[in-house]
Amino acid sequence: MKLGIAGKHALVCGASKGLGRGCAEALAAEGVNVTLVARTEAPLLRTADEIRASYGVTVTTVACDITTPEGRAAALAACPSPDILVNNAGGPPAGDFRDWSREDWIRALDANMLTPIELIKATVDGMMERGFGRIVNITSSAVKAPIAELGLSNGARSGLTGFVAGLARKTVAHNVTINNILPGMFDTDRLASLMKSRANQQGLSVDEARARIAHGIPAQRFGRPEEFGALCAFLCSAYAGYITGQNLLIDGGNYPGVF
Ligand code: NAD
Repeated sequence: MKLGIAGKHALVCGASKGLGRGCAEALAAEGVNVTLVARTEAPLLRTADEIRASYGVTVTTVACDITTPEGRAAALAACPSPDILVNNAGGPPAGDFRDWSREDWIRALDANMLTPIELIKATVDGMMERGFGRIVNITSSAVKAPIAELGLSNGARSGLTGFVAGLARKTVAHNVTINNILPGMFDTDRLASLMKSRANQQGLSVDEARARIAHGIPAQRFGRPEEFGALCAFLCSAYAGYITGQNLLIDGGNYPGVF
């Protein structure tokens, strides 16, 4: 299925690795030109070269911290009028809420709520004027099924989710949709470091820790970034103009509820 977005331009944040890279690749495979944002230059340039070589699209890069005003200004200077925006940044640390200061909360809100909102603010009016726009926010299954020790993430991402629910109904008549994708457990660098610390805590090898956790997921495995990217690309497609304000869980069946 061709998605009808060849020649469009996407700004993809957190794109050198993991889920963001999965989204960038799936969009590039559809002929979308991509501006990739990530913090560290070397892996970012490597990813850009690989995507350019595989899909022949125009790939530009911005090495910056997207959670800072300077980082966002640099990303928007490189890609001022994206047709597609994928919001993504690292998640806040786990812990006990008794240990979190106001500054910890502000950092989490900046990264996982206010940064996507600022990028939406900078791009959504242009999308509406041009009559096409697709915005996808990478959030977390923890928005639907909160995990106590991820309180900073639960709180900040829920704030974004509430904001998007309102705005997405204002933009859709202009063919601009805003949706959130909620990943369960995906096989990325972030998951690998989580597995390493679980293995240490439980006195297991990393392979044993991975196998135990995967066994608890109905799909019996972790998700693959390309599966995540394919869902993102569909939501960004010409065919998804009637899907807006939704929270799409992609978790191998891990969430046990009906809705
Ligand atoms: P990852 O560590 O594999 O990749 C993160 C990417 O984002 C890298 O390219 C990194 O450079 C970039 N990045 C991080 N912080 C940035 C910043 N401040 N500015 C610019 N670039 C930044 O992570 P991932 O597993 O792909 O996770 C992506 C998001 O999805 C995170 O917010 C994570 O909390 C969330 N999430 C992941 C999972 C999972 O199982 N992998 C599950 C739930 C939620």
